[in-house]
Amino acid sequence: MQILCNENVTEKLYTLYNQLLAQHGDRKWWPADTPFEVALGAILTQATSWRNVEKAMDNLRNADIFTPEQIASISQAALERLIRPSRYFRMKAQKVRAFVEYIEKRPMHVMFTQDVPELREELLSIYGVGPETADTIILYAAGKPSFVVDSYTYRLFSRLGWVEGRYDYAKLRALFMDNLPHEVELFNKYHALIVRHGARVCLKKTPMCQECRLQASCAYYNSSEQES
Ligand code: SF4
Repeated sequence: MQILCNENVTEKLYTLYNQLLAQHGDRKWWPADTPFEVALGAILTQATSWRNVEKAMDNLRNADIFTPEQIASISQAALERLIRPSRYFRMKAQKVRAFVEYIEKRPMHVMFTQDVPELREELLSIYGVGPETADTIILYAAGKPSFVVDSYTYRLFSRLGWVEGRYDYAKLRALFMDNLPHEVELFNKYHALIVRHGARVCLKKTPMCQECRLQASCAYYNSSEQES
């Protein structure tokens, strides 16, 4: 993946943030009540929509299987059944189990005493925790500044003409980490706004450009306007 916006990146990122803020209002993300719930959602949302995660979370909640201890007490088959709506449920059940077993020995609040680089490295060493899941846990469960990027971020930045080529999580994340102050509140709201924009406006198949405040600076919109 190539980064195409190499000049005044901080200014561009703030402009984008303010445009998204003007369009969607102040937003916060991640919908969870406990750090473990954040981690659970972050694992279950891998390669699926949040809507599917909500169904799996509802199943767990309704079955009263929502804490690490409760998850550890049920069979793998039962866990798979409960999280089935999140897709790839067999693999995800293994990942959830691996995470639960890990935090039994080393609780999350102990892990969270570390600084971001060490915490990130530890999380990435746990089976099933990739960069997006690790950053989600760091930002939303630990409350430490690690920017989360995802397919919404990549789609938006590709369409704006800021990046091109294959999705590269590390490079896209570095764009934010290297050019914005490391502030939890800013990272939280920025990611929330990008998720909102990707889910409601800059849709995968049919982006709703007529409703978008980013038109003027969007390469995709400007090239499709010229064609029509
Ligand atoms: S103008 Fe269209 S393609 Fe560009 S960011 Fe907005 S919705 Fe997406």
